[in-house]
Amino acid sequence: MKLLITRVMPDPVAARATAGFDADLRAENTPLSAEELRVALRDYDVVMPTLRDAFSAQVFADVPAPRARLLANFGVGFNHIDVAAAQAAGVAVTNTPGAVTDATADTAMTLLLMSARRAAEGERIVRANAWDGWHPTQMLGQHVTGKRLGVVGMGRIGQAIARRGHYGFGMSVGYVARSDKDLPYPAKRFANIEALAAEVDFLVIAVPGGAETHHLIGAPVFEAMPDHSHLINIARGDVMDEAALIVALETGQIGGAGLDVYEFEPEVPAALKALDTVTLLPHLGTATLEVRTAMGHMALDNLEAFRDGKPLPNAV
Ligand code: NAP
Repeated sequence: MKLLITRVMPDPVAARATAGFDADLRAENTPLSAEELRVALRDYDVVMPTLRDAFSAQVFADVPAPRARLLANFGVGFNHIDVAAAQAAGVAVTNTPGAVTDATADTAMTLLLMSARRAAEGERIVRANAWDGWHPTQMLGQHVTGKRLGVVGMGRIGQAIARRGHYGFGMSVGYVARSDKDLPYPAKRFANIEALAAEVDFLVIAVPGGAETHHLIGAPVFEAMPDHSHLINIARGDVMDEAALIVALETGQIGGAGLDVYEFEPEVPAALKALDTVTLLPHLGTATLEVRTAMGHMALDNLEAFRDGKPLPNAV
């Protein structure tokens, strides 16, 4: 069975793929080009794509009878794949839920702490030899312990963030999701994001990307947030209206932001880079060797199940 893997993988993942499939391991770390996307559907039985491999409705339309039968996405987020178009073309889609949860929640807490405590700004001061020593009013940030945490999207990652906030930092938890959650700690569900935003010190975004959540977080949310509060986004860039965030930060409507993802990734607006109140990470959510290896193995579990005619463990 002919497999295309669209990025360089950790060694154990590459070895397992090569042992189990007639595998082409792409050597580039860039997204598939327009031509490569079509070749993937036309010339391979199965594909392991990832973030920014844009399998749009147009790509499926251009390859009317695809040889490919499965896109086993490397990652839990699959908003770069038009799942309806894939299904209409007879191409199944799977993802890697669970493998990414703790690492991404850890990244959210990293950003929350860095943003609250001005860690990136402080680091820049030290590196610039501009630190003139400790004093009682130097670089005062926001206290985190015991504060109000709001989570937009209380799924696997949202709950892992809330757990860390509650048990690790004694925070009160509020959330917005499509359904009620039965949680082992107190957590108030709010009717809408603006109502939640008005009652938090830290608002963390953990919903999937896609048409349904495009610009879910925009000017009305920033207007509702207290002016000392921080916005943390580890979900997908286009869930947030980046231009509105820049205005909210520049006008002091909110206190700060910690971002792992960007609306036009990997482009990061100069206006964001110019602001000391923003912490900017290069999409590090799942970036540990253990987690990336686990993600690859999970994608391979799906590919092997397909090859062996078994049910797909993580169909979306
Ligand atoms: P999940 O378990 O499916 O959770 C998604 C949550 O969002 C659910 O609670 C869902 O509500 C809620 N939701 C969906 N649409 C909503 C809407 N329109 N309004 C309000 N809430 C909505 O997914 P997950 O595993 O936690 O992952 C979440 C996302 O994180 C992924 O899709 C991915 O894009 C992103 N991610 C980023 C990184 C990174 O590197 N930064 C890493 C991993 C994942 P219900 O529970 O009521 O359905």
